[in-house]
Amino acid sequence: MTAQLIDGKAIAARLRQQIAQRVAERRQQGLRAPGLAVILVGSDPASQVYVSHKRKDCEEVGFLSQAYDLPASTSQDELMALIDRLNDDPSIDGILVQLPLPEHLDASLLLERIRPDKDVDGFHPYNIGRLAQRMPLLRPCTPKGIMTLLQSTGVDLYGMHAVVVGASNIVGRPMAMELLLAGCTVTVTHRFTKDLPTHVGQADIVVVAAGKPGLVKGEWIKEGAIVIDVGINRQADGKLIGDVVYETALPRAGWITPVPGGVGPMTRAGLLENTLHAAEHLHN
Ligand code: NAD
Repeated sequence: MTAQLIDGKAIAARLRQQIAQRVAERRQQGLRAPGLAVILVGSDPASQVYVSHKRKDCEEVGFLSQAYDLPASTSQDELMALIDRLNDDPSIDGILVQLPLPEHLDASLLLERIRPDKDVDGFHPYNIGRLAQRMPLLRPCTPKGIMTLLQSTGVDLYGMHAVVVGASNIVGRPMAMELLLAGCTVTVTHRFTKDLPTHVGQADIVVVAAGKPGLVKGEWIKEGAIVIDVGINRQADGKLIGDVVYETALPRAGWITPVPGGVGPMTRAGLLENTLHAAEHLHN
């Protein structure tokens, strides 16, 4: 058996096309383009790449994109003041603060300062709380994109055993809540979990977001399982690899996402979906 590929790149491209079409319709109706403000502090190379992708995506779909590239020395107060200004700006539907931030800044305080209806990353405690209570508003982009990937398989998710590897605020935890909302039985594993292989071996769906290259071995995976690899790890030769050993997982899994071209493009598409949703339904 060879797993079927879940082509995140193609699915994300279709989503962008639909969003671009909706933006064009809005413009024809005399409505403004959705606006996204992206704040980058410092010059972390990976963050610079992510931010440039997000800005390119905005251009492609016709969003207004505002760029704030600030020096690493920017103070907490200056950032708070910028967020306050953007919170009050009627042309802005979404505010994104690119993480990680330089050490002197308190990311939690900054994320909480963003108005929840402009929190297009879905990280604000209000949005996480709504997801936990089964009434999501703006949903964290990576787990949201993964749910779209899972739905694209056509597999009925109800009652499936989903195992999430990793329990971070931005991926693992909201992922577990999304899967629960979709009717899965969910196990969350993390760095203190004993016997990870046994947990993974019981999964009908396994979502791996640990940031550890090749952590999950193909032999651990249950025959026919859906494997979602969130990990993005750059090797010494520059090649990107995931947290799952792709080559050995491929013959066992039923479905699998590649790295790159799986989850990454869906995270970007999720941001566009959230920004459009905020413009259409929250800032009408
Ligand atoms: P993180 O470092 O914040 O969290 C990692 C989690 O993995 C922690 O909860 C930790 O307990 C757990 N973990 C570590 N070692 C483990 C082990 N041996 N067994 C089980 N769990 C273990 O990372 P993050 O921000 O959640 O990101 C995880 C990975 O996903 C990274 O590679 C990151 O680059 C990638 N990522 C990709 C996307 C995307 O769009 N594709 C988005 C976000 C993050």
